[in-house]
Amino acid sequence: MLRVPRPERGLLLVVGGPSGVGKSTLIKGLREQLPEIVFSVSATTRAPRPGEQDGREYHFLARDRFEDMVARGGFLEWAEVYGNLYGTPWQQIADDVEDGRVVLLDIDAQGSEQVRGRMHDAAHVMILPPDRLTLETRLRARGTEDEATVQRRLAEGLEQLSHVGTYDYLVVNDDLETARATLVGIVLAELSKRQRRVDRVRAWSSPGHGGDSG
Ligand code: ADP
Ligand code: 5GP
Repeated sequence: MLRVPRPERGLLLVVGGPSGVGKSTLIKGLREQLPEIVFSVSATTRAPRPGEQDGREYHFLARDRFEDMVARGGFLEWAEVYGNLYGTPWQQIADDVEDGRVVLLDIDAQGSEQVRGRMHDAAHVMILPPDRLTLETRLRARGTEDEATVQRRLAEGLEQLSHVGTYDYLVVNDDLETARATLVGIVLAELSKRQRRVDRVRAWSSPGHGGDSG
């Protein structure tokens, strides 16, 4: 377990990539290593998978309630993905980032584009498969979708990959441990950017003033 620095302004970490590439698996590993990370729970109109709990993986909403929330401006971003609606509630995110925390979003490329327009210092990471066949094998191996849904997710997943040029970091999820360590490295590097450590700059840049720990 590692300790996450707590800069004056935190980090919004946007993770994307095609369905089945291993985002949930990698995010779980990242949270085990950096437990202070806040995972933003999205709202969705998709049905829960076995084992998913309302309020933990997603807030599962009926379409009309989701649309109400859109109308009230309740989402930082939202999009239709694989035939369902998904959105990131604003609530909490802005406060947590202002408070110096790392907030992680697992959202698609349309959502990433919307976030880019609204939060300029977010870091956008795309998880890439080693190759197409591996992606297909993983999506099937998960066994949570029927064949028609797998086909749809594969086709639309390839569309997600075509947005690769708009992301700041690309992580190939080949060896799981390496990919997880790369993600941890990205978080720590982003938190070490000078712009986020103005507290340290202030503490050390004038003679006679020492920093404290952190
Ligand atoms: P996503 O959240 O991107 O849809 P998942 O995390 O559900 O993807 O992963 C899809 C499947 O691939 C799961 O069965 C998971 O165990 C497996 N998987 C994820 N990463 C790897 C990896 N590096 N090597 C082998 N299998 C993996
Ligand atoms: P799944 O149904 O497999 O949980 O997620 C399907 C896709 O929806 C994934 O690519 C995931 O990144 C994306 N997604 C999940 N939550 C959100 C969200 O709040 N906004 C957007 N734009 N995409 C999301």
